[in-house]
Amino acid sequence: MNIVKELVGLCGIARDNAPTESEAFCYELLRRQYQKIDEAVEEKKGNFAIVSCYSPMELLHAMDILPLTTLLHAAITSMVRPCQDFLDAVTGYGVPVDICSMHRTAAGMAIAGAFPTPDFIIGTSEVCDPEIKTTEVIARILNRPNFYLEQVASYDVIHPHHWYNEGVVAYYKKELGALVGFIEKQTGKNLDIDRLREVIKLSNEAAALYREVSRLREHVPTPVRNVEFFYHCLIYSLFAGTQEAVDYFNLCLKDAREVVEGKRSLPYEEKHRISWLFCLPCYSMDLFNWMEKEHGVVIPVDMVNYWTGDEEEMDPSDPIDAIARKGYWAPLAAVYIGPGEKWSERAVELSQKGKVEAAVIMNNYNCKEGCFILRLIRDTVQERLGIPVKIIDADVIDPSLAPPDSLKDELEGFFETLEE
Ligand code: SF4
Repeated sequence: MNIVKELVGLCGIARDNAPTESEAFCYELLRRQYQKIDEAVEEKKGNFAIVSCYSPMELLHAMDILPLTTLLHAAITSMVRPCQDFLDAVTGYGVPVDICSMHRTAAGMAIAGAFPTPDFIIGTSEVCDPEIKTTEVIARILNRPNFYLEQVASYDVIHPHHWYNEGVVAYYKKELGALVGFIEKQTGKNLDIDRLREVIKLSNEAAALYREVSRLREHVPTPVRNVEFFYHCLIYSLFAGTQEAVDYFNLCLKDAREVVEGKRSLPYEEKHRISWLFCLPCYSMDLFNWMEKEHGVVIPVDMVNYWTGDEEEMDPSDPIDAIARKGYWAPLAAVYIGPGEKWSERAVELSQKGKVEAAVIMNNYNCKEGCFILRLIRDTVQERLGIPVKIIDADVIDPSLAPPDSLKDELEGFFETLEE
């Protein structure tokens, strides 16, 4: 089995069945990316890399690397097909079932022989601690060179844990320089710094559009469908620095503006607004359509698309410095790094921005980063905003803990209390 070839077909089917133009375009971009990887492998181009979730995408795009991003790739796969075969493979290898299923699925693909052989592998230490070990296991199984990009510096420059300061930026820049050297050695091609500057400009363009889409989502009623929030996160995470990301967010912005301006309407009536804090069940994306249709529940704000307002425009004149700084403000990273108190404060701020009447936290029950502090987040949001917060136990990939119908049952009870 070759999961990349399989996803070329499955993303094409998802594109053809997508209800909106922007959702179809999201799947088309994913399909094209898998197709490019497949062709690069067949033609032995030497530029296919399996990489961690928080790898510096602008740098990879500027160096013509085709990245397959472990965790997001696992999430995408579970959106279009069951992943039990990979979960079984990784369990057979000896990985305990209480490791996050995104890691287990990605490693399971390597164990099951489903990955085409990458030219090299890049692991990062940002946000998610198991990530670095997952790429190490994949590198060992596939017997490919592996670079470890250390974002978190030693404790003498970071105090407290993971705060953004000039010491950590200087440290991370050195690491990025070493990564450039590693990629140059693997590919035999030097980094073209002018090309990287152009990529940074495109990344800025996509980020500006993305922020505007996120701002429009907060409008009452929200002009963006629930299911799209994860696509926004996916496309920015995977394609920042490419024209494709700019085109995608332009399309999302056009769609959202049309709804706000009354030129187009959404096929449900908004009745309740909730914030979605933390993970989502990728195996059951239809849950988000169901909420809108059956209960008029919309999600104008969520944690994976959180722009703090502190973000900096990336400076193309010093692109490596800009990439290092982005590691500390990128939306999918900034909320989760640092003390739990920061996370809970942002959950409050986010829920206020979204003018929500309730919040849902999906507890990815085996997440080593998040589970410990969900109680803190729930209590903080409840106490500060006086709104109900529901914690649901589920998994990002594996439906066995909370099959789609039981998730609906659990949320239905909560939504009924909102009706009352
Ligand atoms: S859910 Fe937790 S353990 Fe899993 S990838 Fe995200 S941060 Fe890491």
